[in-house]
Amino acid sequence: MKDLIIIGGGPAGAGAAVYAARKQLNSILIAGEIGGQSTVSEDILNWIGSPHISGVNLAKSLEAHVNEYKGNFVEIKKGLWVYNITKEKNAEGHEYFTVHTKNHSGAEESFDTRTVLVTTGSIRRKLPAIDANKFEHKGVTYCASCDGPVFSGQDVVVVGGGNAALESAAQLLAYCKTVTLINRTKNFKADPVTVEKVLAHKNLTLIENATITKVNGNAFVESIDYVVEGQEPVTLPTAGVFVEIGQLPNTDFVKELVDLTQFGNIIVDPMRQMSSMAGIWAAGDCTNGLYHQNNIAAGDAVKALEDIYQWVKKN
Ligand SMILES: Cc1cc2nc3c(=O)[nH]c(=O)nc-3n(C[C@H](O)[C@H](O)[C@H](O)COP(=O)(O)OP(=O)(O)OC[C@H]3O[C@@H](n4cnc5c(N)ncnc54)[C@H](O)[C@@H]3O)c2cc1C
Repeated sequence: MKDLIIIGGGPAGAGAAVYAARKQLNSILIAGEIGGQSTVSEDILNWIGSPHISGVNLAKSLEAHVNEYKGNFVEIKKGLWVYNITKEKNAEGHEYFTVHTKNHSGAEESFDTRTVLVTTGSIRRKLPAIDANKFEHKGVTYCASCDGPVFSGQDVVVVGGGNAALESAAQLLAYCKTVTLINRTKNFKADPVTVEKVLAHKNLTLIENATITKVNGNAFVESIDYVVEGQEPVTLPTAGVFVEIGQLPNTDFVKELVDLTQFGNIIVDPMRQMSSMAGIWAAGDCTNGLYHQNNIAAGDAVKALEDIYQWVKKN
């Protein structure tokens, strides 16, 4: 029986593992992959202590920090995906949790623990337009860093108004012929500095209050249809559609145990990160915290660990 199982290997999970080891909690870190969502970023400018760090190097440094503590107290189980957590009771009536996992080949393994910290972050929201799924990987993409260079010298579209959309547009403007940014509203959620920089680029066209209704093409994307409220639909030729319209939390495996928001984020007490179920905490992008950033995810996890430590010692 472990004291703690940390699920997820982004900044929140890695931060939690370091603190768990230092507090000598008998723990396991279970993560599909170590690094987290911003691994795809070319240049992260706000990871405190590093004025510039690529997403890949951030992932490497998180893994190195976790590995520094691997062994005595924290076991690392990489390549395992949690698909369920169940609440159990032993012969003496003490409650605990069983965390159920599968690896890439489907082999199952379960782990018993007194407490759980969920730091499973989120995945991209899909473009809700006709044939968007049909053209995924054929022009419709969810990762500018990964797929952008393929569209070098071509006209592309970026969909969204948050940091991820603006960062994608900035990356693509470096080598695409033109970038059309399609935002559903007139407002941007992205940092004003980034918005200003991207909109000032001569090859950027902004279309506001617009919704993409359909993706068109043959083998690959050739155009999109969009509508601006109150106007006639427009067909815009494009080779690529980069979608950055938000995130869906990875919390399905815990939905029977804890309270979630309507969007699936785990509702936590912001003082201590505990969920509605005693013994389960959550940190980072999978929670209902208002702001989602690397530093916040790590900080939330540290807060959770302080509370888990107190709880384990008392219970
Ligand atoms: C393109 C992009 C650029 C960004 N740039 C910045 C930036 O410049 N600065 C900034 O502060 N923030 C940035 N962010 C936001 C930042 O990446 C997130 O806020 C942060 O990664 C959240 O960390 P997390 O640990 O909560 O979750 P994540 O980073 O999402 O990590 C989740 C972890 O859980 C694992 N996992 C998921 N489900 C399971 C499961 N069922 N079983 C086991 N493991 C599982 C994953 O493998 C991963 O290790 C960016 C995000 C994106 C998408």
